[in-house]
Amino acid sequence: MTTPVPTPLWQALSREVALACAASGEILWADERAVRLLEAKPGHSLRALAAQGTEDKVERLITLARDERVEGWEVVLCVADKPCTFAFRGAPHDGGVALVGSLVPEDYAASLSQVSETLSELAALHRETERQQRELKRRADELLRLNRELEESNRGVRTLHAELDEKTESLVRAAEIKSRVVANVSHEFRTPLHSILGLARLLLNPANGTLSGEQHKQVQFIRGSAEALFELVSDLLDLSKLESGKSTLRPTRFNARDFQGALRGMMRPLIPADSPVDLRFTEPLDELLLETDEAKVSQVLRNLVSNALKFTEKGHVTVSVRAGPDDTVCFQVSDSGIGIAPEHHQHIFEEFAQVDSPLQKKVRGTGLGLSLSRRIAEFLGGDLSVRSTPGQGSTFTFTLPRVHPEVAEFAGITERSQHLDPTLAPVLVLEDDRQTLFLYEKYLSRSGFQVLPVRTVDDARRTLQRVRPAAVVLDVMLEGETSWSFLSELKTNEATRDIPILVVTLMDREQKARALGADEFWLKPVAEEQLLRKLTAMARASPVRKLLIIDDDDVHRYLFRQMLNNSPYVLEEAATGPVGIRMAREGSPDLIFLDFVLPDMTAFDVLDELKADPRTRDIPIILHTAHQLKEEERQRLAKETSTILAKHTLSREVAIARIRDALNKSIGSGGEVRRG
Ligand code: ADP
Repeated sequence: MTTPVPTPLWQALSREVALACAASGEILWADERAVRLLEAKPGHSLRALAAQGTEDKVERLITLARDERVEGWEVVLCVADKPCTFAFRGAPHDGGVALVGSLVPEDYAASLSQVSETLSELAALHRETERQQRELKRRADELLRLNRELEESNRGVRTLHAELDEKTESLVRAAEIKSRVVANVSHEFRTPLHSILGLARLLLNPANGTLSGEQHKQVQFIRGSAEALFELVSDLLDLSKLESGKSTLRPTRFNARDFQGALRGMMRPLIPADSPVDLRFTEPLDELLLETDEAKVSQVLRNLVSNALKFTEKGHVTVSVRAGPDDTVCFQVSDSGIGIAPEHHQHIFEEFAQVDSPLQKKVRGTGLGLSLSRRIAEFLGGDLSVRSTPGQGSTFTFTLPRVHPEVAEFAGITERSQHLDPTLAPVLVLEDDRQTLFLYEKYLSRSGFQVLPVRTVDDARRTLQRVRPAAVVLDVMLEGETSWSFLSELKTNEATRDIPILVVTLMDREQKARALGADEFWLKPVAEEQLLRKLTAMARASPVRKLLIIDDDDVHRYLFRQMLNNSPYVLEEAATGPVGIRMAREGSPDLIFLDFVLPDMTAFDVLDELKADPRTRDIPIILHTAHQLKEEERQRLAKETSTILAKHTLSREVAIARIRDALNKSIGSGGEVRRG
């Protein structure tokens, strides 16, 4: 028995095996590690050591190494029945091959396979990225093409727009010209038509001599034709006024029941006593009060009723009224007449549109009634629609706001003007045109002014008793009156002569306006900026009037407020010294009334603070006190205040006189006028 020689360390650590094989692959020699690890023995075939399925690769190693050097040829051999990877170097040797293989560690193999897996994934990814890039490029090209197309069509649209703009402009111009021509021609037509009608009436009056039967008939024809022409001309005139926005709204308050009564009175005479058509009026269930243009509502309904009567040979024509949703009123005129086919429901509202029917030929009409009625309905903020079935009759529905939007808006402005905002300068605007008033309100309200709107001279007088405005904007030509005498009245009256007046009107009467005392004269329309600039300048120059009272006594403040009622002054109030000082700094009042005894600080403290601040230093101060002042107090206060008033003797006249004195002194002494 030989004792096994212990394997030297270098051999144990080495992972290399060395072999020599014949060209056939038979092992001729194997080193000690090859024998130990691979059980390779001379006489065995190297191929037999290969792991199953990898024999060919071993075979190829031998074939290659027979002719040339081979490096890093990996083969899988069985080590203790476990497949292990060896990387072989080989070279030709004695007609066979010499091979040196090194065992590739398992983790290395795993990493290798991982790397190769990752590589193949990367390759796949790369392929995918390339595919996506190709797709992206294709899409970018497509986008580019679309962009080009879009640009082209954009250019086309722009050209079309320009053309459309041009067409619209010329259409607007044409419509304007049409309206003007129609309005002028209609006016011109009316006068001779009046004469023709008058003369026809005269001829038909038996008191003026008798006509022969034939002549009578002829004159009646003349009268009928003239009446039809007159109707047409009137409708045309109304239409052109509505189209050109020259129609004026004359709102009044009226109730639906009375309105229907009046309508009945007007329409009844149109139906003969023996008519097979019954004209009915359904009374509204509840009291329904409207505030809109009654004459225009009546015009629409008269037209609807007369149409219904024309196109109803027997049965009924019924007029009803009821409250609609959202504070609207809904009038309906329904009849049991010939009806209108659905395809004509829109068409009949067009100018000069009539529907052919045997009855149509028998009745008189211009084809303007419904288009005019719809225009009026829209002018009143409502609409006019029809439901009808041929042979069964028609129902026309006229819906309109119970209170015209302009009236409602105007009421809003008037309501707001009842509450004076002390931070805004009030401007009295005498103007009968609501639209212009709305415009003034819009311009002025966002620029520190409060519009006090009035539409008549009487209203203006009433407002002046309540407030003294910073300026007055005066329209001269009012509905039913002019405001010339009001202007001269304002400028001659002691109390109002200082209020700047801006006359804005349609007529060029500057000389007259200036002679009566207008501070400025402009022709309408006035531009916003121009108006604001002027008013700001005027209000700045107008007498100062914002007063601040600093007094902790509620009752005294109340009395003071009452005393200054209807005076040109607006009063702001502070109940404590600190609040008063803050209000003086922020609000720049034109004058301060200061109570001598305040709970939180003395009048001297307040005075010191006011005089120390450049913002409040020049504000004149009137001291008022219920106390007997000591001599030294009086002397000191006299230096820093304009006047000292005793509370118990204070009257309106004294207060106003002292305020005026104090203000005049402050302006006279070069004190800046702060209002504006
Ligand atoms: P016209 O002066 O011809 O009455 P309108 O504009 O008032 O003009 O009406 C246009 C047309 O609508 C009428 O000519 C008629 O054909 C039709 N129409 C209007 N109201 C009625 C109705 N109540 N029943 C049937 N057809 C009507």
